[in-house]
Amino acid sequence: MIILHPWSSGRTGDKLETWRTVAKARDAGYDIVSRNINRPMDYADLLKEFWGKDDLIVWEDDKVPTMADLKELVECRHAYCCFPHPVSFYFYTPMSLWTDRFPYSLGFVKFSRLVQEKIPSSTWYKEGKHFGVDRMIEEPMIAQFGPMHLHRRMIRHNHNRSLKGRLGGLKYQLSQAMR
Ligand SMILES: [Zn+2]
Repeated sequence: MIILHPWSSGRTGDKLETWRTVAKARDAGYDIVSRNINRPMDYADLLKEFWGKDDLIVWEDDKVPTMADLKELVECRHAYCCFPHPVSFYFYTPMSLWTDRFPYSLGFVKFSRLVQEKIPSSTWYKEGKHFGVDRMIEEPMIAQFGPMHLHRRMIRHNHNRSLKGRLGGLKYQLSQAMR
C-alpha cells in the first residue's frame, strides 16, 4: 500500500492539520509519498508514476482523516473506496452512491491495484490535460465496477469555509449536477 500525499503551496494554514496527521501516520509505519504539485501536470504525473504498482491511497493536502479512518481504508476489502468530505453548504458524497451526477473527487480514496490495472493510466492520462483528472479516472471506473464503497463518516476538509468559499463551492456543485 502506497499513500500519495500531493500538496501545493498556498493556503498554508489550511494544510497544517493534514501535515501533522501525515507525520503521525508516517511515524506509525505507513508508506507515504509527499510530493509538491504546484505545476499544472504534477498531480496527473504523480498518479501516473505510481499507477498499477501497488494498492494506492490518495490523500489530498487539505483533507484530515483520523488514524482510525486511515486504518479502516487500508484494511477495507473493497476494491475501491473513499470517505466523503463536506464541501460548500451541504455534505456530498464523492464518487456518488446514487448517480454520477455529483462531483468526482480524489480527496481521500483508495484504488486497489486490481482496479488500477483494469483502468490503466493510458486510458485516463492525457498530455497537457490537468483539469478533471478525478473525473477521467473515476468515470470509467464507476462504469466498470459500479459505485465505490463509501465509508460512512465525514472527514474534515479545511478548504473555503468562509461564506465566499462556500458560495464558490455551491456554484461548482451546481455546474457538476447539470453537466
Ligand atoms: Zn471500503
